[in-house]
Amino acid sequence: MTIPNQIFVDGAFRNACEGKRTSLTNPATEAVFVEVASAGPADINSAVESAQAAWENGWRDLPPGKRGEILFNVARVLRENLEALAQLEMQQIGKPIADARDEIGLGARVFEFYAGAVTKFYGQTIPVSRGGFDFTLRQPMGVVACIVPWNFPFPIACWKTAPALAAGNAVVLKPASLSPLTALALGELAHRAGLPAGVLQVLPGAGSAMGETLVTHRLVRKVSFTGSTSVGQRIMELASRDIKRVSLELGGKSPNIVFADADWARAAESSPMSVFANTGQDCCARSRMFVERSVYEPFLEKFVAATRKLVVGDPASDQTQIGPLVSAGQRATVEEFLADAKKKGTRFACGGGRPAGKGYYLEPTVLADVPTGDRCWREEIFGPVVCLVPFDDEAAMLREVNASPYGLSGSIWTNDLRRALRVARAVESGVLSINSHSSVHVEAPFGGFKQSGVGRDLGMAAMEGYTELKNVYIAES
Ligand code: NAD
Repeated sequence: MTIPNQIFVDGAFRNACEGKRTSLTNPATEAVFVEVASAGPADINSAVESAQAAWENGWRDLPPGKRGEILFNVARVLRENLEALAQLEMQQIGKPIADARDEIGLGARVFEFYAGAVTKFYGQTIPVSRGGFDFTLRQPMGVVACIVPWNFPFPIACWKTAPALAAGNAVVLKPASLSPLTALALGELAHRAGLPAGVLQVLPGAGSAMGETLVTHRLVRKVSFTGSTSVGQRIMELASRDIKRVSLELGGKSPNIVFADADWARAAESSPMSVFANTGQDCCARSRMFVERSVYEPFLEKFVAATRKLVVGDPASDQTQIGPLVSAGQRATVEEFLADAKKKGTRFACGGGRPAGKGYYLEPTVLADVPTGDRCWREEIFGPVVCLVPFDDEAAMLREVNASPYGLSGSIWTNDLRRALRVARAVESGVLSINSHSSVHVEAPFGGFKQSGVGRDLGMAAMEGYTELKNVYIAES
């Protein structure tokens, strides 16, 4: 696959009107490897207008079974191109190749799920008290803008695009400026698989420059955004002017709660990847660990030993578990947090420095006994840093868990069923796992409480979010 470096509009690649380009740097080598077109206002206007035309003139009224068939074909073509897509993902953000392959497979699976869901998206019949016949329709909205981040570029692009298309909308997809390549390839491959021209447009470029033009475009009916809480707030504000629909998947500071009755040794072995995977650049990273005091020190010892075994290095190697951070800027941001921790005399149980050599690497870093007022404890770091504290009392621990403004994900480790249910109910977050670190299931809703967002991706909930609900009443007499 040649590296896509233009915008993808109306079923073809073309240059951006203003001719602006952004260079991409491979984070593992620090070398620029491609320049990609940046869409400007004229590109946004023409892409949204022709998406609207493609929607009105065909996609909206295509029988659902036919839409499903095309989406199945998209999944097949994505699988056929899995390796090439994984290589692109690795190059643009330094993602370890084994993870990149898994994530391209996940994207294809998402298309399969919604291809099947198209014909199982039922409405209701409602026994209204007036008699007659009452039923609901789920109708597509029109043009949906999907704005996605750089940490999981391909799967998130798929889990926004696929349900929006399945529900009968047209999509304008805006990837992050650091990671446009797999989104552009998705546009082209989907078209090759039979998606009509204009139904999926892909516009790379800087969010600060083009995001607002897209969000405020009069023909955009819904904005589905994944990214930082601050940009999410701005999007919600802009969308409020026309009462556009929004769904927002935002930041997180997720807890990992380990009770002494759990198989805590297993928790200690598996927990490093719950926070250091994707070099900690994960909205679901379990970055606040609460460990019951009676097992805190032995847990910490095992956890640190497992962390030291992680393979940090060249993303091209099948063995690598942890690659570089996405950019020099992202590493500098994480290092500011570490400097703050050092200044405050925080206990570094391991890590804290840069490995030798090229690339935006940082060692996986474990901070122990972190005061809960500190920045590292409270703010999303979005890098390979975890904070641990011991706890004595379940209720006090839960108060601290819920003191965060975020509420995205989390894990609970216990073998006591009643405790597991009680704590799962009490934690304020959209996604939880018990004796596991799994957060994302294609078939189940994914999203946050509080400042982690509104609306849900994945599962049937996502498809509902890309429709308007209409109620129709038929008089009997
Ligand atoms: P970001 O908010 O900087 O950017 C996300 C996207 O928004 C990019 O495409 C960017 O170009 C665009 N954008 C930026 N400014 C914009 C504006 N003013 N108007 C419209 N669009 C704009 O986030 P990021 O740095 O790419 O990603 C990291 C953040 O994403 C973290 O906070 C992380 O927690 C969050 N995230 C959340 C989830 C989730 O599902 N909850 C998943 C992944 C990442």
